Amino acid sequence: DPQKMEKIVSLCKSKGFIYQSGELYGGLNGCWDYGPLGTELKRNLKEYWWRKNVQERDDILGMDGSILTHQAVLTASGHVGGFSDPMCDCLLSKARLRADQIDPQSGTAYHYTGASHEESGWSVERPFSVLLTDPNQDENKARKTAKEYYSQFLSDKQISPKKLSLQGETSSEEKDTTRYNPANGSLLTEPREFNLMFQTKMGASSDDSDPNAVAYLRPETAQTIFVQYKNVLDSSRVKLPFGIAQIGKAFRNEINPRNFTFRSREFEQMEIEYFCHPDDGLRLTDEWLEKRLCFYEEIGIPREKLHILDVPDGERAFYSEKTYDIEYEFPFGIQELEGVAYRTNYDLGVHQEHSKKTLEYFDEETKERFVPHVVEPSAGCDRTALALICEAYDVEDLTKDGGKKDERTVMRFKPCIAPIKAAILPLLKNKPELVEKAKEVKNLLQPFMNVFYDEAAAIGRRYRRQDEIGTPFCIAIDFQTLGEADEDGNDLTDTVTIRHRDSMEQERIAIKDLLPWLLERIR
Ligand code: ATP
Repeated sequence: DPQKMEKIVSLCKSKGFIYQSGELYGGLNGCWDYGPLGTELKRNLKEYWWRKNVQERDDILGMDGSILTHQAVLTASGHVGGFSDPMCDCLLSKARLRADQIDPQSGTAYHYTGASHEESGWSVERPFSVLLTDPNQDENKARKTAKEYYSQFLSDKQISPKKLSLQGETSSEEKDTTRYNPANGSLLTEPREFNLMFQTKMGASSDDSDPNAVAYLRPETAQTIFVQYKNVLDSSRVKLPFGIAQIGKAFRNEINPRNFTFRSREFEQMEIEYFCHPDDGLRLTDEWLEKRLCFYEEIGIPREKLHILDVPDGERAFYSEKTYDIEYEFPFGIQELEGVAYRTNYDLGVHQEHSKKTLEYFDEETKERFVPHVVEPSAGCDRTALALICEAYDVEDLTKDGGKKDERTVMRFKPCIAPIKAAILPLLKNKPELVEKAKEVKNLLQPFMNVFYDEAAAIGRRYRRQDEIGTPFCIAIDFQTLGEADEDGNDLTDTVTIRHRDSMEQERIAIKDLLPWLLERIR
C-alpha cells in the first residue's frame, strides 16, 4: 500500500500517539510530541528494555547522565572537531541541503521541507519542493532528474550516504567523498562541514572566549557513560566484563530531518556500553547482536523484517573493528534501528589522554593492567517506537460474501507494548447494576495496569475503537455477570466476557481469576 505511511501518520495524530511539535504555530521541524497513547507505548518500550538489560542482569548497571555536556568531553571524543555532515546552501531558495542529496550533474536535489516525503507517497504538513539551481531550468525536468538521482546517484558513484556522515576524526577516504560538487555554474555553494551539535551557553557570562561558558546538548548518551566509567566502577566494585546502560535524550541538528520521527533533531537513545578485556571484544559483539535481535522479536518485530548489515571496512568509524547495523523494513525503506559496534578502547583511551587521569583496569587475578575495550549496542527509542507502530498497523477486510464492505483498522501490538492493556465495557450504560459492576472490575485492575473504561455507543463500535489503538483485551460486563442464566440455562454469575483483539474470539472468565489471567499475558 503506497499510502501506508500517510495512513499511519494520520492515525498517530488522530488517536493521540504522535503530534508535530509546536503544530499550533506551524510546527518545529524535526521535533515531535508524544500524545497520551504514544507516551504509554514509549514507556512500555523503555521499561521492557530496562527490565531485560538492567534489572534481569547482574553485570549491567544503570545511569542517568546530564544532557548539558562539558565542552572538554566532546572535544576529547572528537565531536567538536568532527561530528558533522557535508552541507550545501542553495543561494536561490536559501535552503540548506546535505551534499549527498544533490545531483552533481544537474545540480538539482530533492528538498524535504518539514516531514514531507513525496517519493514514498506521504506527506505530513508542508508540500514537497524541488530545488531549482538554475532559474531558467524546466521544473518538471528538474523533478524527474531529482527522482532518478536518488536511485542512480548513490550506486553509480558508489557513494554510501554513510560515508558522508563523519564521526570522530576524518579519514582521507571520507574527505574524498565530498569532491562530488554540483555542476559548474550552478547556484550551490561548495560543500562545507556542518557540525550537528547544538551549542548553548551556561550561566550569565557574556565572555565568549570563556571555555566554561560553552556547553553542548549531548549528541549521544554514550559519552556521559565513558566519562563516568571510573566512578561507576569504583562505587559499585564490579568486575569486567560489565556494562553501563542509559536511556535518555540526545540532540543532533540534522540538516534535513525526515521520514516522520525516524530522523529527528531531538530523540531518545537506549545505549549500553559493555566493557571487556580486549580478547573478548569481537566475540561479545556477535553475542550482543544475537541478544538484540531476540529483543526485537520479543517486542513484536519479526526476525524476517530485520536486516543485518555487517558494515564493511571504510564505512565504519575508523576506531571500530566491527559494526553491525540492525535495520528494519519501514514502509519508506530498509533503515537502521540500532548499531552494535565494537569500539575497541578508543573512547576510554581519548578520555584518559585528554583528562590525564588513568582509566585503566587492574585485574586482581591475572595482575593485568589495561584500558578496557567496549561493545556498544545503541538503539533509538523513537525509531523502535515507529517500527512498532508500522509493524502493528493492519487493515483487515471482514466483508462477508455478498455483504457490505467491512474493514477494521487494528494495531496488533504485543500486550507488553500495548498502551492500554484492557478496556472495561458495561453492555449498556443505562443499567446502573451493569455500570456499578463494571466500575468494580475497573477498580480491581487499575492499580496494576493501564485500563480504559468506556460505556458510550454499541458494544461492537466500542470493540472497534479499542482495535484501532491496539488494546489486546476487551472485558464486557453483561446480564450474565449479574446472575441471569444464559440461553442454555448456565449460571455465569460473576464472570465476564473477554474478547481478544486479534482473533476477535470471546471467552468467559471468572472475575476472581481476571487479574492473574491478565498479568500473565501483559508482561
Ligand atoms: P544514521 O546513520 O541514521 O544517522 P547513526 O549511525 O548516525 O544513524 P548512531 O550515531 O549509531 O546513528 O546512533 C545510534 C542510534 O540512535 C541509531 O541507530 C538510531 O536508532 C538513533 N538515532 C540516531 N540519530 C537519530 C535521529 N536523528 N533521529 C532519531 N533517532 C536517531
